[in-house]
Amino acid sequence: MQNKETDILIIGAGPAGMVAAMTAMQNNPTKQVMVIKSYEKAQVPCGIPYVFGKTLGTIEKNAMLCGSSPIADMIQKITDTVHRVDIENKTVTALNHTIKFDKLIFATGSVPFVHKNFKDGLALENVFTIDKEYHKVEKLKNYLEEKEKVIVIGDGFIGVEMATELASGGKDVTIVGGRHVLGGSFDEDMAIKAEEMMKNLGVKLALGQHAKHITEKDGMATGIELCDGTLLEAEVIIMATGYEANTTLAKEAGLKLARYNGIWVDEFMRTKNKDIFAIGDCCGRRDFITRDPSKVMLASTSAAEARVAGSSLYKIKHMKGFTGTIAIFSTMIGNRAFASAGVTEKRAIEENIDYISGFFEGMNRHPGTIPDASKQSVKLIAMEDSGQIIGGQVIGDKEAGEIINIIGLAIESRLTLHSLISLQVATQPLLTAAPTTYPIVMAAQIALNSSH
Ligand SMILES: Cc1cc2nc3c(=O)[nH]c(=O)nc-3n(C[C@H](O)[C@H](O)[C@H](O)COP(=O)(O)OP(=O)(O)OC[C@H]3O[C@@H](n4cnc5c(N)ncnc54)[C@H](O)[C@@H]3O)c2cc1C
Repeated sequence: MQNKETDILIIGAGPAGMVAAMTAMQNNPTKQVMVIKSYEKAQVPCGIPYVFGKTLGTIEKNAMLCGSSPIADMIQKITDTVHRVDIENKTVTALNHTIKFDKLIFATGSVPFVHKNFKDGLALENVFTIDKEYHKVEKLKNYLEEKEKVIVIGDGFIGVEMATELASGGKDVTIVGGRHVLGGSFDEDMAIKAEEMMKNLGVKLALGQHAKHITEKDGMATGIELCDGTLLEAEVIIMATGYEANTTLAKEAGLKLARYNGIWVDEFMRTKNKDIFAIGDCCGRRDFITRDPSKVMLASTSAAEARVAGSSLYKIKHMKGFTGTIAIFSTMIGNRAFASAGVTEKRAIEENIDYISGFFEGMNRHPGTIPDASKQSVKLIAMEDSGQIIGGQVIGDKEAGEIINIIGLAIESRLTLHSLISLQVATQPLLTAAPTTYPIVMAAQIALNSSH
């Protein structure tokens, strides 16, 4: 057992832990920063689906490299698994280390969530979850090598990415989910476009009937039964049914948990103890619009929280804390990007929000005869009275991934439709939509017109 001491200790080296370590080092150059993580080798979590198909094709290409820079080199890194945190004595005990700390950040992330109906199925050799650990990604990749028929359960972006990547590699893939794929983040009119793309890529859709249970024979899964009794056969079943906060350590240390079991934190990512912070998928999140507890788990959200924590360890330096998740993300299906932020129309109705919306479909170049021009669709959702932007969805070429970030900034900055209609944008024929029909501006104008 080795005894160590540090000023700032971070448990976990996922996106949250690594960004927190860098930010803590930049903000506190005289302090020692140490990161402890369970595994030496790690995968870029967001790149995992792409090792299973044609895009990356190998696990090695998705290795998470911490990189070398003067700041990164100053961070001490230990590979070991923490099994006890003693908050009173400011000590962490791992299998081979005892570490004393002054400030501690929990960045222990999340683990796959599996519904109780499927938990038993996980013991079967050919049923998998999508884990972030290197050796588990490798195990699934190797197992899939000789297999043909795959069922992916889960219609969220991870299920969609897994299904389309596997299909791109030649597998016979069926995705099983709710009414629509990506239905949690896109309204029906947008989600059906994702489904069309998936069908074109050869993915079979089994939507509208939830999976009831896994069927098995001689210790192997043979497929699944849907709620309406339909039987689907498969050689491999992949569960993409969400993630849950990994908070056993924090709970055992006596920290307060929020709803959905994330570690309770304030806007500066502090727990009830001002020397203990929590960030990333392991912390309790709130929704930016409603302030309700949120289950959203994203690397981008985790990195934002990490920057807040890393700069608030000794003193709160910036008034802007983390004010809630806007659930902003994007994904690619074939050659189309699907991106979403904030609330959908469906959710606005469920939340009893008095909203208006505007949808515009134009071209992403001008004139539309430019060789790589393609359609760009933008939907904006705003409060009826004030015009404050509360949501947006974009479908388009790769730049949709950045257009949603403009909408995200508008949501977080509480901009209104009126600010967007006079937005100054750089436009250029080979790069962007036309200044006369810039889709975000047009969608804002259409939303405003709809309120008259
Ligand atoms: C397949 C997939 C695709 C995704 N794609 C996207 C995407 O495109 N965009 C996006 O924004 N998000 C995406 N996400 C979500 C994103 O990966 C997570 O939100 C992000 O990884 C959370 O980061 P984190 O650092 O909080 O936790 P994690 O990445 O879960 O890291 C947790 C860390 O804690 C360590 N740890 C845990 N317990 C201990 C312990 N007891 N002792 C020592 N170390 C410990 C682990 O080893 C690990 O280093 C994706 C997730 C998956 C699974």
